[in-house]
Amino acid sequence: MNSGNKILAVFGSTGSIGCSTLEVVRRHPEHFTVRYLTGNSNAALLVEQIREFRPAAVAVSDPAARAQVAAEVGQLTEVLDGPDALADIAARDDYDTMVSSLVGFAGLLPTVTAIRAGKTIALANKETLVVAGEIITALTRTHGTPLLPIDSEHSAIQQCIVGEPAHGVARIILTASGGPFRGWTTEALQAVTPAQALRHPNWSMGSKITIDSATMMNKGLEVIEARWLFDVDPSRIDVVVHPQSIIHSMVEFTDGSVKAQLGVPDMKIPIHYALTYPDRLAADYDRLDITRIGTLTFEEPDSDAFPCLRLAYDALRAGGTAPACLNAANEVAVAAFLRRDIAFPRIAALIEESLTHVPQHSVTSIDDIVEADRATRAWAETHIMQTDFQPTTRIHT
Ligand code: NDP
Ligand code: MG
Repeated sequence: MNSGNKILAVFGSTGSIGCSTLEVVRRHPEHFTVRYLTGNSNAALLVEQIREFRPAAVAVSDPAARAQVAAEVGQLTEVLDGPDALADIAARDDYDTMVSSLVGFAGLLPTVTAIRAGKTIALANKETLVVAGEIITALTRTHGTPLLPIDSEHSAIQQCIVGEPAHGVARIILTASGGPFRGWTTEALQAVTPAQALRHPNWSMGSKITIDSATMMNKGLEVIEARWLFDVDPSRIDVVVHPQSIIHSMVEFTDGSVKAQLGVPDMKIPIHYALTYPDRLAADYDRLDITRIGTLTFEEPDSDAFPCLRLAYDALRAGGTAPACLNAANEVAVAAFLRRDIAFPRIAALIEESLTHVPQHSVTSIDDIVEADRATRAWAETHIMQTDFQPTTRIHT
């Protein structure tokens, strides 16, 4: 089977996933055409990408970066202006596949627009499914839009269940590296710096997801992502810490058999799989040499030192606006930690406080999600420095 020539819109092309996507394209120019790119602040890199890929149009969210891009390469491409530029590109009819690789809540609305336009979505932006999983999966069914995971764990699960009947899946086992602070105590975590937290042992990624990996919130977000992508109840999603990041996840079947997907930790491989699915297009990414790895180990996550994973399960079970609240509070807290305004353990504390104090509602529309995100950010920004909080109620028991 031939994957044909896919026409791509790469949202967040200046980011870690965006750059890896463009590297996949570079290596397989006969299979892909890049029609649209978007960036935020990194004008210099976007200018290089425009010179190389000659997109029909770009969106640049940051006004200063947009002015620089327009000045340097405005004659090569259309540089879209204004807050609707991302939606404008997402709605265009002359591309096939959106690579959804903006970071955070900013990815939601463009992805919704692309789903409504019937595009195939190669999804890296897990926050879209975290905040609005039920609505997004319903929309993809209504519009017949394939939603293909880029996240390595979810790519692994997809590869394990291809060809299997849905009733055969007993349990999903997400693997987690444990991050740079695996084995640390809560006390030791008080003093960690952003520089330490940004040093991920196995993966090179954008700063937000790297901090999420250090707090284990990344795995919490991935539990929610898996719940919606694979329509599996949270009680059947487990997390196991696997420090080598070689097994990207596993699926246990109803007959007791377990499948795992393995590979070197390189995001180009799951990006390549998503962009060429259901084909298996040959590629020459680094190969796994299992004898050099030698030992694969597994352990339980430490939910005392890393409460974010539990908070994500709680928010998922609570439903309604709770996952959007979890996500918004996390984004506020991670940004504050990166600015050195708060200590590392305060990230989880602020999320728990937000889930307790921001009123939660049921959700019927994307507008409900946007409002929950706004309300939580407002609350979290006001309460971020408060450190004497004692949780009195839990959102889920
Ligand atoms: P990066 O921070 O490296 O890149 C984010 C991209 O989004 C950049 O192009 C950035 O532009 C752009 N951007 C940031 N904020 C805005 C905004 N407010 N409006 C418009 N554009 C914006 O992130 P990653 O590539 O690491 O992650 C992207 C997504 O993929 C996240 O959801 C992450 O969880 C997920 N993911 C990432 C993995 C990885 O290996 N990196 C693995 C699995 C999932 P600019 O740089 O120009 O400012
Ligand atoms: Mg992942």
